[in-house]
Amino acid sequence: MINFFFVSMEFFFILIYNNIGCEKMNIYDKNLEELEEYFLNINEKKFKAKQLYKWLYQKKITSYDEVTDIKKEIINKLKEDLPLETVKIVKVEKDKDVNKYLFRLKDHKHIEAVLMKHDYGNSICVSSQVGCNMGCKFCESGRRKKVRNLTTSEMVTQLLLVEENLGSKISHVVIMGIGEPFDNYEAVMNFVKIINNPFGLQIGSRHITISTCGIVPKIYEFMNFPYQVNLAISLHAPNNEIRNKIMPINQVYPIEEMIKAVKKYSDKTNRRVTFEYIMLRDINDSMTCAKELSTLLKGINCYVNIIPYNETENISFRRSEVFQITKFYDILKKNNINVTIRREFGSKISAACGQLRSKKEEL
Ligand code: SAH
Repeated sequence: MINFFFVSMEFFFILIYNNIGCEKMNIYDKNLEELEEYFLNINEKKFKAKQLYKWLYQKKITSYDEVTDIKKEIINKLKEDLPLETVKIVKVEKDKDVNKYLFRLKDHKHIEAVLMKHDYGNSICVSSQVGCNMGCKFCESGRRKKVRNLTTSEMVTQLLLVEENLGSKISHVVIMGIGEPFDNYEAVMNFVKIINNPFGLQIGSRHITISTCGIVPKIYEFMNFPYQVNLAISLHAPNNEIRNKIMPINQVYPIEEMIKAVKKYSDKTNRRVTFEYIMLRDINDSMTCAKELSTLLKGINCYVNIIPYNETENISFRRSEVFQITKFYDILKKNNINVTIRREFGSKISAACGQLRSKKEEL
């Protein structure tokens, strides 16, 4: 009986702990309309939301006590209802033009972000989940499985902390870190609204890219999202036979269904889609693959981003040789496919999706 009591109590505390960790809203979860609604609900004027946004995203306060133009009682209510909480940076690795950040969340899970310094500005790659359920065979995050979705605030504050650490502004955002953004659709779209807002972080929608492994119903839904955000598809194979072997999602949504959705998306939005293609030695890098890929993508408003594979200790795939990558590139070019080879960032500092987190958690 006593035993039963302790086990039940333990279960109860775990439940409470998880709820605290994941569910309570904080101020960085609120898009501007939601915050305006909050103020109206507490009988305040809605312009206070814009005022507060400026404090949060332009002056970048770290405590509500820094706000000078909102009444004390309202500030106290905000502290209570919508605490101001961020993820915490626990490690930064720096290379010439890339910084890699490891963050700890409130429930002590870890995620990562990578900051790349381009000549056109600073671009950040953010995570959208802790782990990932898509199970891509070459991917470190897929190996670890999904633990939970990130909240909007956990994504927004990755940007705030990196900007602070960097001492300069982020101009581009790619949602290509740990996780599958379309498996956390609502929180990710809310994140986009907040970082794009003119009173928020003011990141132009054309400077925001969401990358998916190809969850087809979400591609259809995304067509109607009223922001000009870019779409990238992790393709990595020119046919179902190869793609089924390396990306389990293809068994649910095969290539032809995904391509059909992408064509619809591009017709509807007039936007060019990016196809990412990791070069895996002897798996998807043959000349036959290059030709097949050219045929598959013919006539689609797209470009292909060839990515040298970042090898990881726990997975046996190898990167293609440079001459193989060049030959592959040439065939696509010859077939009039827009193509670039991704400049490599951070292979020395475990920059591929999920590698730093694994190092920290599996030591
Ligand atoms: N789930 C989303 C976004 C996260 S992964 C997606 O699949 O697009 C971001 C990109 O990194 C994907 O294209 C993924 O296939 C790629 N990737 C994963 N592991 C990699 C590695 N070791 N080297 C290079 N790219 C990798």
